[in-house]
Amino acid sequence: MHNLKIDAERLWGTIMETGQIGGTEKGGVRRLTLTDLDRQVRDWFWNACEDAGCSVTIDEMGNMFARRPGRDNSLPPIMVGSHLDTQPSGGKFDGVLGVLSGLELVRTLNAAGYETTAPIEVANWTNEEGSRFSPAMVASGVFAGVFDRDYAYGLQDREGLTFGAELRRIGFQGEAKCGGRPLSAYFELHIEQGPILEAEDKRIGVVTHAQGTRWYNVKVTGFESHAGTTPMPMRRDALVGAALLIAELDAIALRHAPAAMSTVGVIDAQPGSINVIAGEVSLTVDLRHPEDAVLDAMDAAFRSAAERIGKERRLDIAIENFWKNPPTAFDGACVDIVRQAAEAAGYAHRDIISGAGHDAVYIARIAPTAMIFVPCEKGISHNETENIGIADAEAGANVLMRAVLEYDRRLAERESRS
Ligand SMILES: [Zn+2]
Repeated sequence: MHNLKIDAERLWGTIMETGQIGGTEKGGVRRLTLTDLDRQVRDWFWNACEDAGCSVTIDEMGNMFARRPGRDNSLPPIMVGSHLDTQPSGGKFDGVLGVLSGLELVRTLNAAGYETTAPIEVANWTNEEGSRFSPAMVASGVFAGVFDRDYAYGLQDREGLTFGAELRRIGFQGEAKCGGRPLSAYFELHIEQGPILEAEDKRIGVVTHAQGTRWYNVKVTGFESHAGTTPMPMRRDALVGAALLIAELDAIALRHAPAAMSTVGVIDAQPGSINVIAGEVSLTVDLRHPEDAVLDAMDAAFRSAAERIGKERRLDIAIENFWKNPPTAFDGACVDIVRQAAEAAGYAHRDIISGAGHDAVYIARIAPTAMIFVPCEKGISHNETENIGIADAEAGANVLMRAVLEYDRRLAERESRS
């Protein structure tokens, strides 16, 4: 079994072929979820999986599951997968690599005549990106019981079209219930979308955790007054207060380096006039860390800094934490299997934390789950210039296959003992 290798050229060929569907002039892909282009790539995937001998099931959220039977089909499937939708100016690899490596896994097993014990399913999750219908990862979220199906159906895009209507329009509202069924395990291969693996010359990232995220709205209230006549000591400048707070947030994340992140991505100062001291400033805060305890500490430091700055500057600073996404620790046994698979295949590897959200984060709530990262050029993703090497794709798909087969072998062992 450990001599099995995926066919890198064949895998690369499928990535390039699907990259044509919604392909852009700059070599990227624009394939928003539930559009005609999404339907096209879904049809492509459906045909390819059926040609590879799989049966394809579509669930009521449009999630696609291509199933290769095993020897004991009463066992819950070992699932692999990711997503085929992209950002408005996305790349060819984000999500696509994970789905097509699943297809490549099936093709490799077919060519070798390899029969697994458990069935294998390759998943294409609907609307991972969340750029057309927010929130992201909504369909794997419904599968994992995090979101309600009808809540997802009611989501609207900027034109007011709903998720449910668009799903029906492209013909991908299936009959199967979304979720409520066990998986033996779930493995997701994905590009890193960050610079670490490339910088350290590692071929494989063994993803141990996904960061937790907390989102805040902050409102700093001071007093609007004349820029030329208000003496500096008498000002209640909301924008200066916001600036001090932003610098403090940066310092808080640096104190918890390297895993902690803090970002202020949006700021709005009112009234927005060159000669008026800002009276009110709104800003957003995004805090991330793989451990809840550290997020709590960052949250506390943020709040006490706001209180101190408010006092010193005579400002009112209101903080609203409107979204919390808890950190994920992936399944210890699955993570070990991935690490051993990378080791056995002879790829340089390191443990890594996922800074981005992935379908695997929701699936981890209902099944033993792990992720595999491969480097992407300069860490660039969600960009048309997103790029990886064929050797990276090959390494990732080989580790994915080894992990699945090792997990399957352990299932067989467990079965024969019982
Ligand atoms: Zn992705």
